[in-house]
Amino acid sequence: MLKVQGIDVFYGGIHALRDLSFEIPAGKIVTLIGSNGAGKSTTLKAISNLVKCKGQILFEDENLLTIPSEKIVGKGVIHVPEGRRIFTALTVEENLDMGSYLRKDKDGVAKDKEFVFKLFPRLKERAKQLGGTLSGGEQQMLAIGRALMSKPRLLMLDEPSMGLAPIVVQEIFSAIADLNKTTGLTVLLVEQNANIALQLADYAYVLETGSIIFEGEAKALLTDDRVRKAYLGEE
Ligand code: ATP
Repeated sequence: MLKVQGIDVFYGGIHALRDLSFEIPAGKIVTLIGSNGAGKSTTLKAISNLVKCKGQILFEDENLLTIPSEKIVGKGVIHVPEGRRIFTALTVEENLDMGSYLRKDKDGVAKDKEFVFKLFPRLKERAKQLGGTLSGGEQQMLAIGRALMSKPRLLMLDEPSMGLAPIVVQEIFSAIADLNKTTGLTVLLVEQNANIALQLADYAYVLETGSIIFEGEAKALLTDDRVRKAYLGEE
């Protein structure tokens, strides 16, 4: 579905992505793990055309680098950025409506809202509550829910576990697993929390200083010595 081919990104003198290539097959959950500053967020920004980038990023054979970022959303490539960025002064329901503002299919929108409320019942309970008053975990649920309202075909999540208690992370990751299983939605998950990301994903790429250093089936990487020592904090 998505093919990233030989991309380079520079921030001034910093070479943040170096000839980076990887693929995401339709219907799979692919994770990109790596330590601080490895270039994970920059990769998502490159796919959304939010940073200047050389190379080619094919989404079903169309080069996303030639498409302005607002049009990329219309193609179904939806980016949930790090730090969630929900609208704090709008209610939960209004935030969800912002996700569907480009859509004309009212019935489909209403159905998708019900789907989001079923996936995250806490959002339904808090539909009239202001976004800014939600807990961190609920805000993450809302950010994902809002993305789902824009009919994603590829959902890109930047560190959804960041700053959240392990039990809330479990809840969110199990919702992502359900979503993938029941709808076949393709997911690109960027995570510093390698353990939980590898448990969820089908396939994983390990990024270091802007390049892929290992890749493989996610479950196999969970038991790979190099990955365990460097990314899972094991001896
Ligand atoms: P983290 O998990 O800490 O966000 P990351 O893997 O997502 O890390 P990036 O945010 O993609 O890493 O950053 C990759 C490199 O590019 C880092 O060295 C970072 O300092 C640098 N960088 C990122 N954004 C900018 C920017 N706007 N200007 C200059 N350098 C930047």
